[in-house]
Amino acid sequence: MPWDIFLHFALRTTTAGLAIAALAYGAMRAVSVRGDRWRRAMRLLGLPLLVGIATLSIIDIVSVLRLGAVPESRTIDWFWASLDELVPVFFLLQIESWRRRDQLEKQLAMLSETDPLTGLPNRRGFLARALLAMAAARRNGGRCSVMMLDLDRFKAINDNFGHPAGDAVLRGVAVAIGQAVRGSDVAGRLGGEEFALLLPDGVADSAQVADRLRAVVATEVAHPAGADSLVTFSAGIVALDPAGDESALEAALAAADRALYAAKAAGRDRVVIA
Ligand code: GH3
Ligand code: MG
Ligand code: MG
Repeated sequence: MPWDIFLHFALRTTTAGLAIAALAYGAMRAVSVRGDRWRRAMRLLGLPLLVGIATLSIIDIVSVLRLGAVPESRTIDWFWASLDELVPVFFLLQIESWRRRDQLEKQLAMLSETDPLTGLPNRRGFLARALLAMAAARRNGGRCSVMMLDLDRFKAINDNFGHPAGDAVLRGVAVAIGQAVRGSDVAGRLGGEEFALLLPDGVADSAQVADRLRAVVATEVAHPAGADSLVTFSAGIVALDPAGDESALEAALAAADRALYAAKAAGRDRVVIA
């Protein structure tokens, strides 16, 4: 095979391959273009450009095969034929950089909504998930309630056994919460030794969840003082209209907090319904 046919063939096959790969990669990764004008414009430009380049390259390959020679006009076009290669390469790199950025943004969003000690959603993550759960309850015509809970005499654990022992208790409580709640419940660590739950139930059912959780915490979370001491918490529960917005949710959290402090005042290790 003469060198110019070989080179032409190789060049056009690579171009067609790269263009098809860029189209397939773009479709496969389904890179989000929502709300991004630059990405939308690039997609608008890239789609016809890549389809055109792939089609022309394939037509070229077929005609070279049929003619058994590089078409006359093509011999001077090495420069343009080489430039054609750069287009799909550019789009492949662009898609890949978008994909990486989307992935990083996702990771960052996840980290900014997660409490590193327990792995539970932090306040921000809790609020975001709770609003979604409220929307779901609204659609199902169901009810909602909010529970705030605070560990009893937690400072004493830190003071007597050290901060790491306190951290271990917090992690244990988070695991217990994970065991006691159902898939439709939302849990979070709002700060310190305070946790919150949003339950798609009325307050009476939520009080049952709280009692179940108290039993799980008492039996599963090891107290650093030994088996004679139990980790306990106090909780406040309040009904929340699922039609409410974020400020309604915040108000419910505040009301649940007041009920929680009533539970503390009444002697701790109990649940108070507002
Ligand atoms: P009460 O029964 O009234 O709730 O008493 P308490 O001792 O639990 O309440 P207090 O608010 O006095 O103590 C909370 C303590 O939680 C104080 C703080 O040092 C500790 N704390 C907050 N965040 C963390 C944490 O991430 N790790 C550990 N180990 N301790 C924490
Ligand atoms: Mg406490
Ligand atoms: Mg507290």
